[in-house]
Amino acid sequence: MDQILEIKGLRKYFPIAEGGFFKTAWVKAVDNISFSVQKGQTFALVGESGCGKTTTARIILLLDNPTAGIVLFCGKNIFGLNPGEIRQYRSSVQAVFQDPYSSLSPRLRVGAIISEPLRANRKHLTKAAIQEKVNEVLLQVGLDPEMATLFPHEFSGGQRQRIAIARSLVQQPSLIVLDEPVSALDISMQAQIMNLLKELQDRLKLSYLLIAHNLATVRYMSHAIGIMYLGKLVEKGASEAVFAKRLHPYTQALFSAALPTHPDLVQESPYMLGEVPSALNPPPGCRFHPRCSSAKPICSRVEPELKMIAPGHEVACLLC
Ligand code: SF4
Repeated sequence: MDQILEIKGLRKYFPIAEGGFFKTAWVKAVDNISFSVQKGQTFALVGESGCGKTTTARIILLLDNPTAGIVLFCGKNIFGLNPGEIRQYRSSVQAVFQDPYSSLSPRLRVGAIISEPLRANRKHLTKAAIQEKVNEVLLQVGLDPEMATLFPHEFSGGQRQRIAIARSLVQQPSLIVLDEPVSALDISMQAQIMNLLKELQDRLKLSYLLIAHNLATVRYMSHAIGIMYLGKLVEKGASEAVFAKRLHPYTQALFSAALPTHPDLVQESPYMLGEVPSALNPPPGCRFHPRCSSAKPICSRVEPELKMIAPGHEVACLLC
């Protein structure tokens, strides 16, 4: 299967001035991660707050520069694009954010919000062509084109997220970064928006990079999954394989902390010790060792690399 996006050895270190002028420490928000998104599929990046998943998304969206590593989009490194190619890339790669209310201008009518990228980037389009495109994407997300004259505050949370999705579709992207797209919505709305995203993926052959911490959302939406901890990928593979057999102790703890999906099911007790350490001074060896109930003395000395445990299933643990 073809890859639409390939991330290789990506690092993002943020400098922090420490004491004297020449002394700089680094927050290693993303530290040498590699993964790929296949065409027409969803890759989910999962982990606790501060694990580096949103920083990764910001780099892919060209909102931050990486410290090292490359991002290939359709085989081309996005950090070597010329201004025209960057404009094209920004059209092809769109984003949908968590809070649809703050991501939509309250002063603009829905039609103006959705058509803004077209008016900025496709100046040759006539007013009628733009209106036709706006109507088309509103219908695609299940909204009446007549709603284009309303303001965002006149919609429910779920409808506002549909508007945000319509805006992301208007430039006919091939990849959409979904940053916690349903976590600000109530449960019934979450299901509707997830179904809509899946239906659009099938119909328009879209690829998604899903940033999420809700495992139910990830299980329902993703084809492949990467588990991040303190800037590192600790497990990755096909979603089915990871959900069937989670191997890394952090993945096991993360999954057991999730609420059961049925009232008769008993919640597993999470066995993660303590708090997430600071990315400013991550523990030596395996970064998870201070919290890992399976840790051995070697874990604080040797840093585990991702290794293939089964076809397409990789784990970074010295004991796996
Ligand atoms: Fe736990 Fe050691 Fe594996 Fe790290 S390497 S996850 S500390 S067992």
